[in-house]
Amino acid sequence: MLFHLGQMATATQSLDEETFQILGEEIGWNIQLVSAEEEDKELLQQFDINLDEEELQDDEDLKPRPPVVTVMGHVDHGKTRLLDTIRKTNVIAREAGGITQRIGAYQVTVDLEGEPRKITFLDTPGHEAFTAMRARGAELTDVAILVVAADDGVMPQTVEAINHAQAAKVPIVVAVNKIDVPGANPEKVRGQLTEFGLVPEEYGGDTMFVDISAKQGTNVDKLLEAVLLTADAELDLRANPDMDARGATVEARLDKGRGAVATVLVQSGTLHVGDAIVAGTSYGRVRAMLDENGRAMDAAGPSTPVQVLGLTSVPTAGDLFLVASDDRAARQIAEKRQATERAAQLAKRRKVVSLEDFKKKFAESEIDMLNIVIKGDSSGSVEALEDSLMKIEVSDEVGIQVIHRGVGAITQNDVNLATVDKAVIIGFNVRPNRQVADLAEREGVEIKYYSVIYRAIEDIEASLKGMLKPEYEEVVTSHSEIREIFRSSKFGNIAGVMVQDGEVKRGTKCRILRNGVATVNDLEISSLRRFKDDVQSVKEGYEAGINLGTFNDIELGDIIETFEMQEVERK
Ligand code: GDP
Repeated sequence: MLFHLGQMATATQSLDEETFQILGEEIGWNIQLVSAEEEDKELLQQFDINLDEEELQDDEDLKPRPPVVTVMGHVDHGKTRLLDTIRKTNVIAREAGGITQRIGAYQVTVDLEGEPRKITFLDTPGHEAFTAMRARGAELTDVAILVVAADDGVMPQTVEAINHAQAAKVPIVVAVNKIDVPGANPEKVRGQLTEFGLVPEEYGGDTMFVDISAKQGTNVDKLLEAVLLTADAELDLRANPDMDARGATVEARLDKGRGAVATVLVQSGTLHVGDAIVAGTSYGRVRAMLDENGRAMDAAGPSTPVQVLGLTSVPTAGDLFLVASDDRAARQIAEKRQATERAAQLAKRRKVVSLEDFKKKFAESEIDMLNIVIKGDSSGSVEALEDSLMKIEVSDEVGIQVIHRGVGAITQNDVNLATVDKAVIIGFNVRPNRQVADLAEREGVEIKYYSVIYRAIEDIEASLKGMLKPEYEEVVTSHSEIREIFRSSKFGNIAGVMVQDGEVKRGTKCRILRNGVATVNDLEISSLRRFKDDVQSVKEGYEAGINLGTFNDIELGDIIETFEMQEVERK
């Protein structure tokens, strides 16, 4: 049936929505496409879990919860520094005298009008992480802090960050950073941002701007206040703490001693030690929970980030987690999801192309793929990197395919895979050991190391451009006028010429111009002589004898124009 519809597809190949609709009409079936989310909802319902029940909750069950904040902005504008400064002034950490560790999120307590209030920070700066999370359905962020360096102003990633936050309908608080730098111009930043709809309160808008120095800690307390005030004014942040916990995975990795370690952010309900949980395709029982100060916790309520031990595998950043009724249910949900994911990956790998497209592209062998293996230090970074890479578009001719991804060091297995599929390995904050590096070297597998996402993106983009077939442009190299024609029975006609400009070289391509019009185009200077000698080239102002091989249709006054094809660099 598909073949008749002009589609060539094998029995296991995926089709697009339109094709399904047409196919449905042909065979008289009513086709309804079910989104992956709906499918998952149905799966959960089989285990008596209803994700929509939050909407049905009684108002009185809802209690205020702290805002969750993501720091975004252009590279080098001070996001990391700001997160560090805020963490260092974290009151709880000082009280505990403990050493804070990076778990992907942390909470601070701020005094607002005499009342202690908490704020949760996601510790992965940058909008890549923000969008990667959103792409997986994890809408974690309540308020975004947009960091703009006062000595640099609005930059491309500043604009991107604004777009992402606005698309997610997340209110923005602007931190105008680096005001300690001489020449910093916070007013200019205010002016620039007005164009993007961020109008400072002092100018009658509704966005709070705070001038800070992340380096010196100036006004960071005011910034935190602004976050709370913005949240209070624009959002109604409440959740029911008295239910099974739900939330999202912020970060996850494999720890040598402790197994899978995942930082989750509880969004509603309360997570307890001993709960059976599912996060994406991984499951387990909460064996222990730790806060960012390494202290054990028994329970974690809404907006609390907590490190969870006890999952049987490493979930992906952005994976939603929930508590199941028991271990068995948790396992079954995870296994069903794994099966769905495998099917989806298979479908993705076989890219759907229409018959026409496919034939054409294949015939011209136009499809070129850059295969990539990504290894990183955390699932968050791997995810964010993959996401950003998939967004690179250079041309229709070349594409990127991430054939394998994972958390941890680069292994022999990765190199083997890269060898087979001719892939490049990207190590994000990870390295191979000696043997693996040697193996890669022997096999000729390229391993590239990065610690900044955008550097990786720049590099890949550049190499993709390199994969494009070179473009050529014609460059005219000389003109020679035919002044005499010698007829030789052995060689055919020989043109006696005067080189008017440039340089004639033997073997170059040429054409005949007669009265300024190109008559024949694909000729070649097959022999070139000066007097009796064969020469390689003759310069402007000299006479020469040119033979054009089997081509003899030349007349006095014709111009022989030579040209070369030169490769042009792609922009
Ligand atoms: P990110 O790329 O946005 O995370 O930027 P970083 O936090 O890594 O900061 C980039 C550079 O700017 C680092 O060298 C910081 O020390 C410096 N920096 C950050 N905040 C300030 C500030 O308030 N004042 C000054 N003078 N330098 C800062």
